[in-house]
Amino acid sequence: MVDLTLQSGLVERIYWLIRLRWIAIIGLSLTVLFVDKIFAIPIYAFPLYAIAGILSIYNLIFLVYLNSITKIKIANLTTIANRIANIQISFDLVSLTALIHFSGGIENPFIFYFIFHMIIASILLSRRASFLQATFATVLFILMVNLEYHNILPHHCLKGFVPFTLHNNILYISGVYFVFISTLYIAVYMATSISKRLREREKTLAEANLLLEEKDRIKSEYVLRVSHDIKEHLSAIQGCLEPVVEGITGELNPKQRDLIRRADERTEKLLYFVRALLEISRIKLSKHIEMDYFSLKNAVDNALNFIETKAKDKGISLSVNIEAGIDTIRGAEVYIEETIANMLANSVKYTPRNGKIGIEVKDEGDSVLIQISDTGIGIPKNELPKIFDEFYRARNAREVERNGTGLGLSIAKQVIERHKGKIWVESEEGKGSTFSVTLPKS
Ligand code: ADP
Repeated sequence: MVDLTLQSGLVERIYWLIRLRWIAIIGLSLTVLFVDKIFAIPIYAFPLYAIAGILSIYNLIFLVYLNSITKIKIANLTTIANRIANIQISFDLVSLTALIHFSGGIENPFIFYFIFHMIIASILLSRRASFLQATFATVLFILMVNLEYHNILPHHCLKGFVPFTLHNNILYISGVYFVFISTLYIAVYMATSISKRLREREKTLAEANLLLEEKDRIKSEYVLRVSHDIKEHLSAIQGCLEPVVEGITGELNPKQRDLIRRADERTEKLLYFVRALLEISRIKLSKHIEMDYFSLKNAVDNALNFIETKAKDKGISLSVNIEAGIDTIRGAEVYIEETIANMLANSVKYTPRNGKIGIEVKDEGDSVLIQISDTGIGIPKNELPKIFDEFYRARNAREVERNGTGLGLSIAKQVIERHKGKIWVESEEGKGSTFSVTLPKS
């Protein structure tokens, strides 16, 4: 089984850290500006702005690097991501130490911002690595304080905020050391304990999900096999019934003809249902769908041909609007055409006589938007979230049309999601529905 422990979602979390750092850079620049210009506290603004600049540069470098390694699917992405997270946190600790040094050293209350870095480390890294980062922060802090204490580094006092002598007061330094270091380690201990528990829960959920997927696959395989067998027998039954219905085997009396016709109709319906079952099981089980470039306009035209007669019979008017620039898109042509035909057929099925159906295809840059609207029975609001579920049919649909499998939309959803597209519906009962599909062009 795939190891879904500690590192799942690490790359996303690093992106989160990068976003967080942009906010910190803006916050830092604004704070320096306020303290310097508005509160007029004399601080060394230049080095602080310079550190904000350095932070921006390395944040950008990390972002570009992360984008490049996530684009090419490298095998050891997790190891590299782990290393990047470690390096970033170390860089941040050095930057924070430099910031603190230029803005009052041990006198600056912002020293407790080290805790944020410990929490971030606990979220991104293993417990061991987080404690190592806490040790690194401790070393940096003690080094800075000692170098300032022994005048090896100059001390930049926050004048007017704290007494100048504080950084030389050994009692104060010892007190801060004790609180600072213990806080760092306690923060890491608490945060890693919480994130460990969350990761374990995440792992359990991910494993349960895999198990469910596996069970779903077994179920689909079973359905595929059974429906395939049933289809074979039904086709054979239909083959036997047809010559009888057509009178090839001899004249039937009206009672016999009626019974045979009904048997033939039922067989046809059952075959339709079994074919839909076969199709959805096949799509679910196929790991890969053959895709190629094809004309979307042709696919829409073919789908329209499929329903034209039925729409005419019901006096339904059809309007088609395909934006000029729409050309080829990449996908499984047969599936897409079938999906559009299916949605159009639903509109015809669920729109009363003399209604209207419209299909619009719009260019959306990298994707196309296909919208099918009708003035039909609509879908009850409380049933909207369920209509893409397998076998689900809304109450009003069952009332107006007894025939239906409740599989058409779930097949459509599978097909569209396999194309990395989206399908959704907006509807009002008694007024009509609009089904929308977005498909990436390539
Ligand atoms: P069915 O065979 O019942 O049409 P589908 O999977 O194609 O199965 O559709 C599922 C349900 O979604 C339908 O039973 C109906 O309740 C609802 N539905 C689909 N299309 C429309 C539409 N154009 N107007 C109203 N209801 C619709």
